[in-house]
Amino acid sequence: MKEVILIKYGELTTKKDNRNFFIKTLRKNILLKLSSFSVEIKDDYYRMFIYTQEEDIDEVVKVLSNIFGIHEIDICHMSEDINLDNIKELSLNVIKECDGKTFKVETNRSDKSYPIKSMDVSKDVGAYILKNTDLKVDVHNPDIMLHIEIRHEGVYIYTNGVKGLGGYPVSTLGRGLLMLSGGIDSPVAGYLTIKRGVELYYLYFESRPHTSIEARNKVIELARKLEKYNSNGKLMVVNFTKIQETIYKNLDQDYLITIMRRMMYRIAEKVARRNKCLAIVNGESVGQVASQTLSSILAVNNVTNYPILRPLCSFDKLDIIEISKKIDTYDISILPYEDCCTIFVPRHPVINPDLNYILEEESKVNFDELIKEAVNNIEIIDLKEKKDYSDVL
Ligand code: ATP
Ligand code: MG
Repeated sequence: MKEVILIKYGELTTKKDNRNFFIKTLRKNILLKLSSFSVEIKDDYYRMFIYTQEEDIDEVVKVLSNIFGIHEIDICHMSEDINLDNIKELSLNVIKECDGKTFKVETNRSDKSYPIKSMDVSKDVGAYILKNTDLKVDVHNPDIMLHIEIRHEGVYIYTNGVKGLGGYPVSTLGRGLLMLSGGIDSPVAGYLTIKRGVELYYLYFESRPHTSIEARNKVIELARKLEKYNSNGKLMVVNFTKIQETIYKNLDQDYLITIMRRMMYRIAEKVARRNKCLAIVNGESVGQVASQTLSSILAVNNVTNYPILRPLCSFDKLDIIEISKKIDTYDISILPYEDCCTIFVPRHPVINPDLNYILEEESKVNFDELIKEAVNNIEIIDLKEKKDYSDVL
């Protein structure tokens, strides 16, 4: 008997036509994340088997539990001997290792030439377990669910598995551009977007020397945390200093944030187009701050027709924090380095901005030139380079 990992797909059941593409992508993503292990994958329309070294199984399961598109992970006991007597014996051994008082057996035959019907296998195995243990049967809510899968190459037996992350395999839905700041919200927005199968690139606006290298390092570390779920992401840093200073020196202070965010969106759209990103993603949440009232969002969004995804739009802050703790970004996000949104803060930020007035204000400066310059001078940070920032964070 050997141990094999069985994976059940996430939401793929609803995607009939694209199913093969999704499975192929999931297999590619798994192989990438497991590149340091020796693994072999066999998949079909319904599930995937992963064969690896016995001693690596726990580590491999850990990696799999962070891959989107996986609904459940089970460690199966596999035997090539599909005789009913052998199946009974194996089932008994497996169930004896489990905690619980009640059980149910469920059998599945992908090998329909197997001479005994699934129901009868379950009945026979159940009776054998009843006879040889103190366990009781509970068909509605069993503590232990014993699964028996009979395939042409052998029998697979497993019990309660580990829940996967769900969602879609990353990149099946194309690429998005995440506006990533050092705050709590945007990494969570990124995580939730990756979950929907969107691969991410990251865009960070910095205003050196008003913002520090520590603030940038925070963002690099946050992007690296997201790379656990994403892959091949690149972090692009926009030098935003000139634009911010220009707004600060020349325009109505109350509109500083609104206009600054309009500039961010305009730059983000250009970067998204250049990098084949099909949407811009950010961490805005309705009502959270002055720039996130509906009328502020309307005034800011007015600069672009590009799709803007706001996965946190209806989230409470506490719920966002809960996810940020789960994905391990919270402790980085709360480090107290100022972001470009907090360096020039107006005393009375406008919460109902007037679009005509904004256009009048913006016409005082040639922002097109400044935007072009910012886009042409973007710096790209290699997220794979293993530089340790723990001393500065
Ligand atoms: P966060 O906690 O993510 O910083 P926030 O609640 O502070 O969000 P804002 O500062 O208004 O909200 O920013 C809203 C969103 O705009 C952020 O979630 C992020 O997606 C984007 N954003 C803000 N500042 C930057 C920045 N310096 N670089 C890139 N994106 C930014
Ligand atoms: Mg912020």
